[in-house]
Amino acid sequence: MTFDSRPLHALDHSDAFPARHNGPDDETLPTMLEAMGLESVEQLLANTLPDPIRISEPLQLAPPCSEAQALSELQTIAERNQVFRCHLGQGYYPTHTPSVITRNLLENPGWYTAYTPYQPEISQGRLEALLNFQQMVMDMTAMPIANASLLDEATAAAEAMTLCRRANRKHTSNAFFVADDVLAQTQDVIATRAHYLGIEIITGPAASLCEHDVFGALIQYSGESGYIHDLPSLISAAHDQKAMIAVACDLMSLAVLEAPGTWQADIALGNSQRFGVPMGFGGPHAAFFAVSDALKRMMPGRVIGVSRDTRGQLALRMAMQTREQHIRREKATSNICTAQALLANMAGFYAVHHGAKGIHTIASRIHRLTTLLFKGLQDAGITVRHSRYFDTLTLDGLAVSELRSRALKQGINLYYRDDGGVSISLNETTTREHVTDLLGIITADSAPDLSALDQEVINQALTGLPGDLMRKSDYLTHPVFTRYHSETELMRYMKRLENRDLSLVHAMIPLGSCTMKLNAAAEMAPISWPGFADIHPFAPRDQTAGYQQLIEELSGFLTAITGYERISMQPNSGAQGEYAGLIAIRRYQAAQGEGHRRICLIPSSAHGTNPASATMVDMDVVVVNCDREGNIDIADLESKADKHQANLSAIMLTYPSTHGVFEQNVQQACDIVHRYGGQVYIDGANMNAQVGLARPGDYGGDVSHLNLHKTFCIPHGGGGPGMGPIGVKAHLAPYLPDHVHDSGKPGSMAVSAAAFGSASILPISWAYIRMMGASGLTQASRLAIVNANYIAHQLAPHYSVLYRGHKGQVAHECILDVRPLKQATGITEEDIAKRLMDYGFHAPTMSFPVGGTLMIEPTESESLRELDRFCNAMISIRHEIQRIEDGDWPADNNPLVNAPHTHRDMLAQTDRPYGLDLALFPAGDTANKFWPSVNRVDNVFGDRNLICSCPSIDHYRND
Ligand SMILES: *Cc1c(COP(=O)(O)O)cnc(C)c1O
Repeated sequence: MTFDSRPLHALDHSDAFPARHNGPDDETLPTMLEAMGLESVEQLLANTLPDPIRISEPLQLAPPCSEAQALSELQTIAERNQVFRCHLGQGYYPTHTPSVITRNLLENPGWYTAYTPYQPEISQGRLEALLNFQQMVMDMTAMPIANASLLDEATAAAEAMTLCRRANRKHTSNAFFVADDVLAQTQDVIATRAHYLGIEIITGPAASLCEHDVFGALIQYSGESGYIHDLPSLISAAHDQKAMIAVACDLMSLAVLEAPGTWQADIALGNSQRFGVPMGFGGPHAAFFAVSDALKRMMPGRVIGVSRDTRGQLALRMAMQTREQHIRREKATSNICTAQALLANMAGFYAVHHGAKGIHTIASRIHRLTTLLFKGLQDAGITVRHSRYFDTLTLDGLAVSELRSRALKQGINLYYRDDGGVSISLNETTTREHVTDLLGIITADSAPDLSALDQEVINQALTGLPGDLMRKSDYLTHPVFTRYHSETELMRYMKRLENRDLSLVHAMIPLGSCTMKLNAAAEMAPISWPGFADIHPFAPRDQTAGYQQLIEELSGFLTAITGYERISMQPNSGAQGEYAGLIAIRRYQAAQGEGHRRICLIPSSAHGTNPASATMVDMDVVVVNCDREGNIDIADLESKADKHQANLSAIMLTYPSTHGVFEQNVQQACDIVHRYGGQVYIDGANMNAQVGLARPGDYGGDVSHLNLHKTFCIPHGGGGPGMGPIGVKAHLAPYLPDHVHDSGKPGSMAVSAAAFGSASILPISWAYIRMMGASGLTQASRLAIVNANYIAHQLAPHYSVLYRGHKGQVAHECILDVRPLKQATGITEEDIAKRLMDYGFHAPTMSFPVGGTLMIEPTESESLRELDRFCNAMISIRHEIQRIEDGDWPADNNPLVNAPHTHRDMLAQTDRPYGLDLALFPAGDTANKFWPSVNRVDNVFGDRNLICSCPSIDHYRND
């Protein structure tokens, strides 16, 4: 090396992040442009984006910084959050995340970069982990079937209400009962949901349930102040009057309290957070949802089921997918799409790690410590509100402000109630010293003798658990909950499952509309720092300055990127954002005296969540046609807007369209809707094509959601977590969701349990934007468009590209039309998807937004080498299809219909007209083979024979 004579500032950029994030570089980009016959990226963009919507100025963001700098800034932010000892309760508890789970799952890209398991043959690992989660929930709640997670406890409760209304045909009432000691945030989200569905909410003491004529009821077991209701009598009171009953319950307490299922509750739901998932200022955590057998086919959310593959081997897959919004659209029972798969897996592994005995011991210890506290307080003459409790005591008659300052001085948070009481919740991390501290603070006795107290508790057999409610039924009896208690065994089990799944650690995942880009290690690292992980969502404001800074700064970034004025971080997913955005529109219109506007125009190409969300705010969906090029049919839009002008509320459109094209007339479409008095909702899932190039707030949007788990690098987690913040123009800002623990006002149209949704994953998006800066983000969008066009260009001689823009370009994704091949050979998009597995790839999006197609989105993160590897696989598959067309292989026995191939194909006697080398190593690369663990999975069999629990152990392969 010779002396480097560049000036210092040139040497500072040795670790510029954009070059790490983006695939194409200075060397390969010219090759790609040349292949496409283009002079420059700018020429491509000029042909792709309509000129009028292009922004001319760079985004107003701070200059980019290095990884080291971003991490150091985040460290400073995290330090501004103060981690106090937390006894706040209210649905969130400190927990010990077993390190084996942190290291092997939460911080492991083999788990967190996987996609939703729509392709079961390469997803058996996380499907099994999610099945374990379902089994754990079924066991703890004693319900016959559970789903694989919902967004949070409050939205799960709202889903329970709507499920009761759909299912309870015996009851004509329109009222739903909510016990007054249901968590405040749950009550709020239920009120929001009920508002637009015309459901009347009746609130009162749980015991007054029988006095009301309702179709369903929700109670909390234990109530928010700690009281353990007489569950069997409440359930029978509900059933006596033909009401259905949902029980919001705490998994940990169910280790020692009898489960709702034992007394025939219709629904059990709650938060699985305290099974090893950090509080994270409110999320992400997996809500659980379990139902009676009668309700199983109406249950919202994704459900993992057991089926078999073509060789008769046991194989898992997502069951009953035809209920989902993708298919049923405005008739869907729920708009849920992204859920909380990664967090459900954490909670499931927590149960695997501890097993029944371990969980029982943890719960017993929490209860014993609570009982010691109870006894100590009672001996000191302090009034404890309830003597039936699991882990939460509520104290009355204390001098609260003195108590508060004593507690704060010791770094302890208690829950100071509006009714003058003080609630204290204990948890897995509570020690006897903590109880001593609590007694000291409350009774001003400096050294209570805990051993003496404990002896008294034992002698008197003192407990807060009502004798008739003590748990008698078994749980976690399946061998999966007993086999992996040594860390060696658990580590290997987790690795075995991980190895069955294809994730971004193996290959590109070219999923259209899902933007499976790099989730950089530096972006991920901060989420497990205590300053972000160990903060309770209702911690006093002055302890959360770091989170406030993070949220404010990220909101600023997002307003700069979108052109909107205000951001709400409350929605936990894109679909939840749609719901929150449509509520803002409806509230705004109501305030203008236009609450009668209920028509929502939705193009036929829209994502299924759009019509599903519109229905949830009581809108009527009117479908707008698309023309032959895939664009919104402007004449049809105009005529429908005209026809419905008196009642037009909004349009929901996706830009660039789900057809992968920047429509030239998007502004015109927005103008038409505005002219007829409607608002414009722009679905921001495709923001990855336009960051730094165009802003929805500029070209006509009034509101959009952003999928931070797509464009802004939060990993997909195998089906969640997500974040779907919404941006709005100023006129909608007063109608954004608020939160009871923030504003102090209930009834603030909250859509999530926590004020800032899944706040603990926001550092990921913050770091991405911070490290990329305006130029890096814009370059990412440009390269996303380059990569998609490169794929379209390379594959065009072999497949038909369904839609293109007016100058022949696609946006950041492209749709291949497989229908002509199907007509000629019978080969389907599914066969191609499965055959891609043999080549080591995940399939593109199948049959969305058009049946019989594949939608490919490469993202900017994929390099030319990977794009070529993918294109070569697709071209090679096309040649295989040709051989079927030419009669070399029969239509029902060829490498496509038999795909994917597994090790079992090697062992089996085969009557196949092609060799194993072609079956298993079609790309010739024997060293880097990814092996699907099962052959093609039979969906129909699994739906007919619905089994959503862990199969008996004989079914397990060599575990
Ligand atoms: C992903 C997606 C959604 C839904 O987002 P979730 O976070 O999964 O709820 C909505 N619209 C489009 C176009 C999408 O691609």
